[in-house]
Amino acid sequence: MDGKSRVILIVVLLLILIGLLSYSRPATTGEVSLTYDQFKSLLNADGIRDVLLTPREIRGTTRLPVPREVVPPHMTADLQRLDGRFTTGPVDDPQLVALLEEKGVSFRGANPDPSPRLLLSWGIPLLLMLFFSLIGRRGTQGNGSVPGVMGKSRARISVQTDVGVSFADVAGVDEAKEELQEIISFLRNPERFTRLGGKMPKGMLLVGPPGTGKTLLAKAVAGEANVPFFSISGSEFVEVYVGVGAARVRDLFDQAKKTGSSIIFIDELDALGKVRGIGQSGGHEEREQTLNQLLVEMDGFDSSTGVVVLGATNRPEVLDPALLRPGRFDRHVVVDRPDIGGREAILRAHAKSIRIGDDVDLHVIAARTPGFVGADLANVVNEAALLAARREKAAVTLADFDEAIDRVTTGLQKKSRRISEREKRIVAYHEAGHALAAHFSPGTEPVHKISIIPTGIGALGYTQQLPEEDRYLLTEGELRSRIRVLLGGRAAERLIFGEVTTGAQNDLTRATELAGRMVREYGMSRLGLVTFREMRPANFLGLPQEGQRAVGPETAQALDAEVDRLINEAFQEALTLLDEKRGLLETIANALLMREVLDRSQFLRIVDGRSGSPDPDRWT
Ligand code: ADP
Ligand code: MG
Ligand code: ZN
Repeated sequence: MDGKSRVILIVVLLLILIGLLSYSRPATTGEVSLTYDQFKSLLNADGIRDVLLTPREIRGTTRLPVPREVVPPHMTADLQRLDGRFTTGPVDDPQLVALLEEKGVSFRGANPDPSPRLLLSWGIPLLLMLFFSLIGRRGTQGNGSVPGVMGKSRARISVQTDVGVSFADVAGVDEAKEELQEIISFLRNPERFTRLGGKMPKGMLLVGPPGTGKTLLAKAVAGEANVPFFSISGSEFVEVYVGVGAARVRDLFDQAKKTGSSIIFIDELDALGKVRGIGQSGGHEEREQTLNQLLVEMDGFDSSTGVVVLGATNRPEVLDPALLRPGRFDRHVVVDRPDIGGREAILRAHAKSIRIGDDVDLHVIAARTPGFVGADLANVVNEAALLAARREKAAVTLADFDEAIDRVTTGLQKKSRRISEREKRIVAYHEAGHALAAHFSPGTEPVHKISIIPTGIGALGYTQQLPEEDRYLLTEGELRSRIRVLLGGRAAERLIFGEVTTGAQNDLTRATELAGRMVREYGMSRLGLVTFREMRPANFLGLPQEGQRAVGPETAQALDAEVDRLINEAFQEALTLLDEKRGLLETIANALLMREVLDRSQFLRIVDGRSGSPDPDRWT
């Protein structure tokens, strides 16, 4: 298609568009045109009587007299004169219907007046699709910008001037809230930060499993800072035509910059921001162009505009590294699965809107739902309320909650496993075993965190150690200590339960690997100072490949025997150690069962004997 016919096509399209618009929308007189803001304020002030929702506008009447000081006086006068008739533009506002219901406003959808609307809703998209596919075919070598009509495609950008969510609605994620606090004070008063030449981070990435409240948290930031919230979801870009996504991103940033202090939220960033160009063929230009446009936009504004970009993802590992560079999403806020205290707080937040029976202790419900995320807990509360309603009870009882947990669990079991009380006990002792072995073995890294919250990706718990300094050389003693720590979990299981489980498989793999290296590579065995490793010739990528030196059967047996010996010795040492410290082992396991996560200071407080049990008053 050459330039001339393209211009003609655009003109024809515009003419059709104008014709349709003027045909389908009879001249409206006698209505006051409100901004969406004013409409929302009126609604909140109980000032709306009824509304008609159509895809193109919202029409309705206000109550009379109009509540004072919600809209400017001249509008109040107009409304009075026109029996309260008004119109306002539609905004993609998911909370509108709920709010209308809450305020008892009567509302209805549009009466279809078929011909023009059908044409509008089918004809134009069809023509546009034809148009885009034509230029899309030739436009991929361009820079992703498509002139003219494109700029108007703001269909899926949703803007909310008043999100109606605050930090109080997001429970159990105190650390994340703390990290977001700085952004909120910046959004409230950008000048104060930029006057002294300071630079605010432009982008922050919320990272965490699905349902932990990332989207909610992003909205709450807008709510706390009282700024508009522009949002768009990465997954919506996946199937649009070439150029549309990039134009939409540019549009999004333009709108936000015009608004001033505001939040741009890009949900499901991974759908859009996957690593570019490895082994992909066709159909990905669109995503790449959109991603490139996003990078350009993020580089192209400075923080003095007061715009902050928030992203959310549950798969940070697939993101294109370019997105994570300084000046883009260079700060990460982890929104993790809630611990027992967090779960209780979330349950409390959601239970506010229902009537709860006297026999319900939310702490107990929290204890019964390990591994549940905020969305699951919201689900539990909702299910329980529905069950109680069906049984026509006056309040939601423990039995309703029990059944609700079972239902939600059944739903979850398809996705991941929920662990039983007994399994939880085993995991607690297992992790306590690791932690104690680490604490009492010389030359190991200090225990940083112990958790028995299932991660949903295989692990039922973990003990995290953090090095105090970078290490390049390890002594034989230190390597032995590491093996002992790895086997500490299984040793605790043997000691307490007399039997062992499959839960230590990964530990055993790693211990065996470490012992194998000591024997084969580091000359730390009875076989002496020999190394049994050699480099094979480089493969086609130029990387040398590791291999083993060919050894005879006797040597191979001797190697295996040495690995066995190292492992067995370490296991015996771990058993002896934990047997000596059995009291501590029990205390730590019990503390874990109670609060699921122990951080470094809580752990140290127990092993140093300063307090027998972790301050119980925090969890009543
Ligand atoms: P994500 O974006 O991380 O997948 P969402 O923000 O969409 O999770 O959460 C879905 C719903 O679950 C929320 O609308 C809310 O009702 C509930 N929820 C999730 N996390 C929390 C939380 N921390 N506090 C209160 N409610 C939560
Ligand atoms: Mg989300
Ligand atoms: Zn383990």
